[in-house]
Amino acid sequence: MKITRHQNRRIHVGSVEIGGGSPISIQSMTNTLTQNIDATVEQIHRLVEAGAEIVRVAVPSHKDTAALKEILRQATVPIVADVHFHFDRAIEAIEAGVHKIRLNPGNIRDREKVARVIAAAKDAGIPIRIGVNSGSIRTTDQLGEHLDEEHLLKLMLDELDSYIRYFQEQKFENLVLSGKSSDVPMTIDLYRAIAERYDYPLHLGLTHAGTILTGAVRSADALGVLLYQGIGDTVRVSLSGDPVEEIYVAKQILSDFGLRKFSSPELVCCPTCGRCQVDLPEVVARVEKELRKIRKHLKVAVMGCIVNGPGEAADADIALVAGVDAGFIYVRGERKARVKPQDMVAALMEHIEKF
Ligand code: SF4
Repeated sequence: MKITRHQNRRIHVGSVEIGGGSPISIQSMTNTLTQNIDATVEQIHRLVEAGAEIVRVAVPSHKDTAALKEILRQATVPIVADVHFHFDRAIEAIEAGVHKIRLNPGNIRDREKVARVIAAAKDAGIPIRIGVNSGSIRTTDQLGEHLDEEHLLKLMLDELDSYIRYFQEQKFENLVLSGKSSDVPMTIDLYRAIAERYDYPLHLGLTHAGTILTGAVRSADALGVLLYQGIGDTVRVSLSGDPVEEIYVAKQILSDFGLRKFSSPELVCCPTCGRCQVDLPEVVARVEKELRKIRKHLKVAVMGCIVNGPGEAADADIALVAGVDAGFIYVRGERKARVKPQDMVAALMEHIEKF
């Protein structure tokens, strides 16, 4: 089934379009000290190599904004400055030439200061992402009781409403919106409500999604439901650890819903069962690592036995069926080679290169 995307405005983050039906872009955030230019640029390059289309960097100090000019000179994708409490950092980042600012206006209580950031972004012609986070909302009432989801949702929407009204009063509409929580149903409800109310493009993500396993699952849960309903224009999967993994998870989610087609292979493998006589997870891990170097779209299957493997891999472009004495390579369902177990990953990669 084809997903009908939510109709909204289109904005530009450097060369990348967000919203208005443009392809859903993938972003991530560096976790190096931004002021460490070499480490930050190296991580940006790795993110881009994996498929990041926009990269955000935190700029908590003046040393960080001072590093931006050189980072921007070396980066090959648009760079977003993430500003938390200090409006001066936002102004400095805009002066350095960043392509977008991420601001939590709730953290800059002085509206005069927000107005100065808005004026600077307007002059530079760059968008601002504003959003609410469940973390910045008081989650208990005066008696210390936890608020129910409905109440919390209303508070977050009211807060977002007040920010947006303020930006509109300043005649600034070059906006991207977000509403994040680490709770999956809350995130879904929040984004659905935001998409109903406004026609600004939406940045999807959860806060503190978790480790690679829990974060990938939670992100797929929340983003999957929203994307399937046509909501979302740019995504960031938050995982703790190497942010490069975020890109692979985001690409998987988008390609699973048919929303993007990437020049990278899609890997499927069998779960293994009592028929499998090889260490398939080890083989799959090696194949996955090798596939990250390949820049073409094809479906690759890795199966754990010769009994059912060929049949179960029938819809893959290329399959490796790992038997105990030999590995078999299939191309579009046809057996092409029988190789020694120690050569099977190399043989698979050779056939992928030739494909
Ligand atoms: S391919 Fe073979 S080993 Fe893998 S799940 Fe199917 S029957 Fe089991």
